[in-house]
Amino acid sequence: MSHQSIDYAGRIRAHGYRMTPQREIVLDAVCAGEGHTTIDAICARVHERAPVINRSTVYRTLEFLQQLNLVVAADIHGQTIYEIAQAQPHHHLACLQCGDEIEISNDELEATYAEITERYGFDVEVDHLVLYGFCQGCRAHKAQNDS
Ligand SMILES: [Zn+2]
Ligand SMILES: [Zn+2]
Repeated sequence: MSHQSIDYAGRIRAHGYRMTPQREIVLDAVCAGEGHTTIDAICARVHERAPVINRSTVYRTLEFLQQLNLVVAADIHGQTIYEIAQAQPHHHLACLQCGDEIEISNDELEATYAEITERYGFDVEVDHLVLYGFCQGCRAHKAQNDS
């Protein structure tokens, strides 16, 4: 999904801030990653359009965009990845063996949240979770080797 379809300027204004060219360029750079993108990839894209924006400015801008919930970040396999926040929260299953990633919707965890609330009186608020494990392919491979 292109970020053009979301009124980012409006959402930034709603928080009492302005959309600046710098914020726009960083948002575009995250969006161009079409899903997860690393800080290196974002900086490279930003640099192409605006060489004057340095890495620490990109970091600061990303932090700002995260606070406004326009961008989400997660650590997957020891690397921080960024992406444009989606309307619905989603999570990731990350394979420790092959590095494969599967995206799951928040709905799939709703039952677990409800159970946690019931048992602990705790209201879970997560918007981007990474669950590590082994994917189907790697499990099949492992089962074969074990027998
Ligand atoms: Zn994600
Ligand atoms: Zn795997």
